[in-house]
Amino acid sequence: MISKDIGDIMDATIKDLMIPGDKVAHVQIGNNLEHALLVLTKTGYTAIPVLDPTFKLHGLIGMNLIMDNLFGLERIEFEKLENMKVEEVMNTEIPRLFLNDSLEKGLDLVVNHNFVCVQNDENVFEGIFTRRAILKQLKNHNEKLKNSDNV
Ligand code: AMP
Repeated sequence: MISKDIGDIMDATIKDLMIPGDKVAHVQIGNNLEHALLVLTKTGYTAIPVLDPTFKLHGLIGMNLIMDNLFGLERIEFEKLENMKVEEVMNTEIPRLFLNDSLEKGLDLVVNHNFVCVQNDENVFEGIFTRRAILKQLKNHNEKLKNSDNV
């Protein structure tokens, strides 16, 4: 049974639980779809951030967006993989979190998104906040409470 008191885990901020930017796979503006597909396939991630050379966050690109763009009227247009850039296909309408946002705000967003990008006030990418991170935190907290009940 999940214990009652989850109060203190909600005191953490997004910064405490995010995966930092240097550990997040990404593609850059100007990369073609072939490169994005390669990164997505090799990492096994469904979507990754699109950044510019100054690490500013522009959007997300995922396998489904790439595949959807390859479908022409009569055939799959594989040549688009080489000819199209990630910025032509990426999703720019994405939720964003800031470093000092509350866990509650993050929790609200990961109900509908697998992960959410974290940025600073200048739009610079800082990392990602994932569903897995919050579930792990909840699980650890619950185990700690169960152990302290047993002593
Ligand atoms: P997970 O919570 O680990 O299952 O990750 C959910 C999604 O978050 C993945 O499918 C990716 O789209 C993204 N993700 C998680 N970790 C990374 C990472 N290190 N680099 C890039 N994307 C990631």
